[in-house]
Amino acid sequence: MPDTLKIRRFCLGDWATNCYVVSTLSSDTAGDPQGGACWIVDAGFDPGYMLRYIAENGFQLEKVVLTHAHVDHIGGLAEILAEHPGTPVVIHHDELAFPADPMLNLSAALDDRVVAPEPTGTMTHGDTLTLGGNDFEVRHTPGHSPGGVCLYQRENNVAIVGDTLFAGSIGRHDFPTSDGPTLMRSIHEQLLTLPDTTRVLPGHGPETSIANERATNPFLQD
Ligand SMILES: [Zn+2]
Ligand SMILES: [Zn+2]
Repeated sequence: MPDTLKIRRFCLGDWATNCYVVSTLSSDTAGDPQGGACWIVDAGFDPGYMLRYIAENGFQLEKVVLTHAHVDHIGGLAEILAEHPGTPVVIHHDELAFPADPMLNLSAALDDRVVAPEPTGTMTHGDTLTLGGNDFEVRHTPGHSPGGVCLYQRENNVAIVGDTLFAGSIGRHDFPTSDGPTLMRSIHEQLLTLPDTTRVLPGHGPETSIANERATNPFLQD
């Protein structure tokens, strides 16, 4: 039996970036108030409130997973690693250089250029990342950025989709490393093929579902 999965959203920084703490409660320690392993998915600015949640629940931070490396998703990475040194950080291989490069992570035009720590590992389409027996399928969804990924957990019927798809909108595709037709193909091939009831947890704004976006998202109507 996989451990029970819990996903908590934190809306961080001036860009209101949704970052997620994915945690498990081991069935062995179900009576114990201390939690099991957790991941952080995306590292927005000012992650203190998210780090306090992890500490207060006694979670062990096993990994930081980046849906992509725009500044609003990596701005808090240094602070997270300062509190949890040595934690593995994984990103799609096409964006390995982005966190430490202000031109690529889109912080070059800001007052504070962000040179974040380089990730320690890469992932690719079709990889499986496992937390407490729960498998997350890595789906490469380029377009908003070249190495964007979505994390799909079939049994819990949930997908963390970064800035690819939002409630009623889609990711921006006017950045130098973006591509609109590629984004549309990613959404149609990798997300709209998921079951209708799949919960969609985006990088900004409220939660939605595949059925809801298919029916009402103005960018997805033929
Ligand atoms: Zn982005
Ligand atoms: Zn974003």
